[in-house]
Amino acid sequence: MEFRDLKAQYVYNKQLIDNAINKVITQADFISGDSVKELEDKLENFIGVRHCISCANGTDALLLALMVWGIKKGDAVFVPDFTFFSTAEVVALLGATPIFVDVEWDTYNISPMDLQYKIDKVLEEGQCVPKVIISVDLFGLPAEYSELVKLAKQYDMFLLEDGAQGFGGSVGTQKACSFGDISTTSFFPAKPLGCYGDGGAIFTDNDEWAEILESLRIHGKGKNKYDNVRIGMNSRLDTIQAALLVEKLEIFKTFELQKVNEAAKLYSSKLQQAVEVPIIKEGYYSSWAQYTIKTRSKQERELISTELFKNQIPCAIYYPKPLRKQEVFQCIHVSAEDNIITDRLCDRVLSLPLHPYLTEEDISLVSECICNTIK
Ligand SMILES: *Cc1c(COP(=O)(O)O)cnc(C)c1O
Repeated sequence: MEFRDLKAQYVYNKQLIDNAINKVITQADFISGDSVKELEDKLENFIGVRHCISCANGTDALLLALMVWGIKKGDAVFVPDFTFFSTAEVVALLGATPIFVDVEWDTYNISPMDLQYKIDKVLEEGQCVPKVIISVDLFGLPAEYSELVKLAKQYDMFLLEDGAQGFGGSVGTQKACSFGDISTTSFFPAKPLGCYGDGGAIFTDNDEWAEILESLRIHGKGKNKYDNVRIGMNSRLDTIQAALLVEKLEIFKTFELQKVNEAAKLYSSKLQQAVEVPIIKEGYYSSWAQYTIKTRSKQERELISTELFKNQIPCAIYYPKPLRKQEVFQCIHVSAEDNIITDRLCDRVLSLPLHPYLTEEDISLVSECICNTIK
């Protein structure tokens, strides 16, 4: 059994994907080819935003967004303590200060209450200026945007949605990757919409920012590549990746998103007696980047993962360590207070195999193994 079966995905869609890749190779249209624009148009349509700017990966996407807003030393950027490293890495890379906010036990997403508390605290201390809130749609579930948008307005801050894991999710009729002033995603192979290498995209309704982003991703170009008006990056999305993403977006929309939701639902029905299963609040829709359960203790998690391993069932811990405890962040101003929920989650979460091509038999196998272990 695979944790995320990318080989099955390829076998299932081989013809479409081979044709897409071959077309680019045959035309030797490797850099900024037609498929890049085609993909961006399709993504704008799917998400419901004015602009999509594709780029090299999800980390660059976050970095480029912060660059547009001129984030620098002395600025405070609020990030969830429980997320992938990139979310805070880009903040530190620009010399700004990441402030690590606790998350909610139920949703794994940034806690609006702790966020407000931490913003007030930074204002009170007066050492940095609150500029940006980065929300993460962790494990595919959109963050609590009704509250986050209000807080961003109240404190006159930008909201950056890190939708690297959230692509395909929604709240009501509004799609993930449209909630931020700028939103980003990643096409890393294991993400909900993955390509066959690195890839990413940035979304915004703001015309001026979109134009700056276009420039920043190609060496700060002005009228053309050899007219450079700002310091930028080399962060284009390959045409090959764009071409296969055009195909995979269609497969994602018409098949994978629904399949992965069915698989998650089946897991929950089989596991809810034994462990804490993921909670999706009314009106929210997840794209299930991960299916993550909570055990009663670290020991119980150890017991379950050992048993799964014995049965050749892969599992993973996302994430074993709060960001604020990463060694590299020890030298940066870190709040003395603990993020209690994040600490507890790091000890108790366990992510199970999940992807659109997972069979009912496999879901039963995993669930039975867990239920038998706990008995
Ligand atoms: C994967 C991920 C990123 C980074 O994406 P890359 O394409 O790997 O650079 C950023 N934020 C979160 C929450 C992620 O899961």
